[in-house]
Amino acid sequence: MTDALTPVLRALDARRAPLTMFLRDDDAGWETPRLMALIDVTQAAGAAIDLAVIPQATGEALAETLCARIDAAPGSIGVHQHGFAHLNHETLGRRCEFGSARSVSMQRHDLRQGRTRLRTMFGHRLDDFFTPPWNRCSAATPAVLAELGFTLLSRDRTAAPQNVLPELNVTLDWCKHSRDDGRDLGPVWQTLAEAVQQHADGDAPLGLMLHHGPMTAADLDGLRGLLRTLQDHGGVRWQAMRDLVPQRSVAGVH
Ligand SMILES: [Zn+2]
Repeated sequence: MTDALTPVLRALDARRAPLTMFLRDDDAGWETPRLMALIDVTQAAGAAIDLAVIPQATGEALAETLCARIDAAPGSIGVHQHGFAHLNHETLGRRCEFGSARSVSMQRHDLRQGRTRLRTMFGHRLDDFFTPPWNRCSAATPAVLAELGFTLLSRDRTAAPQNVLPELNVTLDWCKHSRDDGRDLGPVWQTLAEAVQQHADGDAPLGLMLHHGPMTAADLDGLRGLLRTLQDHGGVRWQAMRDLVPQRSVAGVH
């Protein structure tokens, strides 16, 4: 593990200060046993994880389990809204739940319903953040989110810029680079090393996106090894998204 991670550690060694990173895991509500296995890994390593939770896929049992785990280890797990039902409404082009096929009023309805449902289940534990399914939404969506009280949008670093809400985007997609059901993680480490090398001191935190659903036991072993190695190295500070909300004035929002 350490040998495979040498390029990552070298990139960290070249930095003047520790690198701030965060973990965002998408699709809580699906594949709950795998979600719990992932949380076991991050909690054992002392790394915070933020869960993007699908309102319509999340029932009372999962919510109660997550609330208990959050209360037992405050700060170790963040929860925020991930779409509404995680449905694709587009008939052409890339998949999107909050895209041009949905009017502003339909988007508002879905966002509000989802928010109410998650607030009922998670109460004060719910962060006012929104991760759209497939990391994309229409140009109109940020204003609707702001109107409903959301304070942060999270997509990926290639998302079209918007000026309505602060944004905290992921940089790396674990599952995109994991090969052979998690048995070959070389491309993950290579991509991570490159991202660390390209990351300037003043840049936004580096976000690692996970999807517990397709992550195998081998993927979790790899993540466990990464977290342990980075902890021993000391060059990365894992933080929760709620501690990383960009502080900047937001135009047009009161
Ligand atoms: Zn998703």
